[in-house]
Amino acid sequence: MKLVLATSNKGKVREIKALCEEYDVMAYSELIEEFEIIENGDSFKENALIKARAVYKALGDEKAVVIADDSGISIDLLDGKPGIYSARHAGVGADDKENLYKLIEDLKVKGIKSSPAHYTAAIAIVTKKGEYSVHGWMYGDAIAEARGDGGFGYDPMFIPLGYDKTLGELDDELKKRLSHRSKALSLAKRILKSL
Ligand code: IMP
Repeated sequence: MKLVLATSNKGKVREIKALCEEYDVMAYSELIEEFEIIENGDSFKENALIKARAVYKALGDEKAVVIADDSGISIDLLDGKPGIYSARHAGVGADDKENLYKLIEDLKVKGIKSSPAHYTAAIAIVTKKGEYSVHGWMYGDAIAEARGDGGFGYDPMFIPLGYDKTLGELDDELKKRLSHRSKALSLAKRILKSL
């Protein structure tokens, strides 16, 4: 089965391809020109559905199976921020590094060295048969410094529960087993099998 990803975020595409080796996975930008999708939902689930619907419609192929991932990090001592605004924490158009260092700065300004935190991933599937959504979470601590350069996004400041290194320092294989994305995708695969 061909899965079209409604994202061009390289980190997500790399991880989803590695987690879905049994499928023929491609980013939608490999099929059609990239376009802007306004993510104006008020939850991860809504935003994932917005992205998957937009790409399904733009592809104009009723046999397409489109998958979208909307994800982010929530820091307990920052009242759950940045949450659904993780991709634009340092402003619209900010890149991963700018968002990472802005979040580290937010912690430092409040004198916080470490806070409980979690990642959320909502995966939406849109096909001609209908729309589906599932979630996955990964818990741990966010620290006020960047360590390591593995993973992507906020990974250099996130220490998964039970470990003492950040996802920037830990092996990719470990993130593959623990991550919010892998948990959501294992549920998504059950839906894909039933299609
Ligand atoms: P989205 O593309 O709108 O879902 O934005 C996701 C945001 O959360 C981006 O800023 C990502 O860097 C960040 N993010 C999501 N998942 C991860 C992850 O697994 N590791 C690090 N950052 C992530």
